[in-house]
Amino acid sequence: AKAAGRNSIRFFDPAMQAAVTTRAQLEADLRDALAKDEFRIFLQAQVAADGRIIGAEALLRWFHPLRGCVSPAEFIAVAEDTGMILAIGDWVLEAACACLAAWAKQPATAELTLSVNVSARQFRQTDFVPSVLAVLARFAVAPTRLKLELTENMLVDDVEDVIGKMSALKAEGVAFALDDFGTGYSSLSLLKRLPLYQLKIDQGFVRDILCDANDAAIAKMVIALARTMGLSVLAEGVELDAQRDFLAHHGCDAYQGYLFGCPQPVEDFTARFAAG
Ligand code: C2E
Ligand code: CA
Ligand code: CA
Ligand code: CA
Repeated sequence: AKAAGRNSIRFFDPAMQAAVTTRAQLEADLRDALAKDEFRIFLQAQVAADGRIIGAEALLRWFHPLRGCVSPAEFIAVAEDTGMILAIGDWVLEAACACLAAWAKQPATAELTLSVNVSARQFRQTDFVPSVLAVLARFAVAPTRLKLELTENMLVDDVEDVIGKMSALKAEGVAFALDDFGTGYSSLSLLKRLPLYQLKIDQGFVRDILCDANDAAIAKMVIALARTMGLSVLAEGVELDAQRDFLAHHGCDAYQGYLFGCPQPVEDFTARFAAG
């Protein structure tokens, strides 16, 4: 009885209780976030080798009245677990298409692409392909302006299904990038079969590229691999000129990172292209 008592005291440990409340409260707040219009997309520039902005990645931001701006790192996993990621993912795709529709009206922005992160659960939906095409059609956006970012770990599910969905969207003009490349489990034989447009070198390899020989070797290998396969290769998390120069020297063809711009509200990003 004593031991059980001690266990139950541990169970009601205030810190643990607080953690449980926090997770439950986060879930509850997340459930309300869509209805309360608390989500926004922020855009981060993607640049070509010559420094020209070729497009942007849409990064989700949650502005909660009490929590402030919550990082996706804090809530995407919860949204995945609860299935809320499906409604959130639809919202992100709509926000991205609304942005692309506005860009299409101005010559200065008409050629930009917008990259959207897709979660495993979202991609696994049987109606993923028609739902993406329906949103594009509803906003009258050319599919060639949209890029979808998948991660390696979602490719191991059912390879034929993954390839089928990617091929169907690619046939309409949608491009695919493989995000965080090098951190997951994709095999080279699988990579060869995927209808990809681009590999994204994970920022974890870029961070210490100038001082860590292993990271430098991995980055060089990914660039060489992409080029051999005829794919574009984008380095993310580029913060320094010297990192960009190293990557450029080895043949990288696109970049993203604080060096070229932080994620910012859609209006601020678009204002960069204002005439004048
Ligand atoms: P990610 O797709 O790898 O996005 C890149 C992350 O690196 C972003 O973090 C971005 O703000 C950050 N970043 C950009 N440039 C730099 C840099 O120069 N240095 C450093 N240290 N960091 C940089 P963020 O916005 O917090 O997003 C975190 C992750 O959340 C994303 O990683 C992505 O996996 C996920 N995420 C974001 N938006 C969405 C979304 O709409 N749907 C889904 N399913 N996941 C999303
Ligand atoms: Ca991404
Ligand atoms: Ca990434
Ligand atoms: Ca990442």
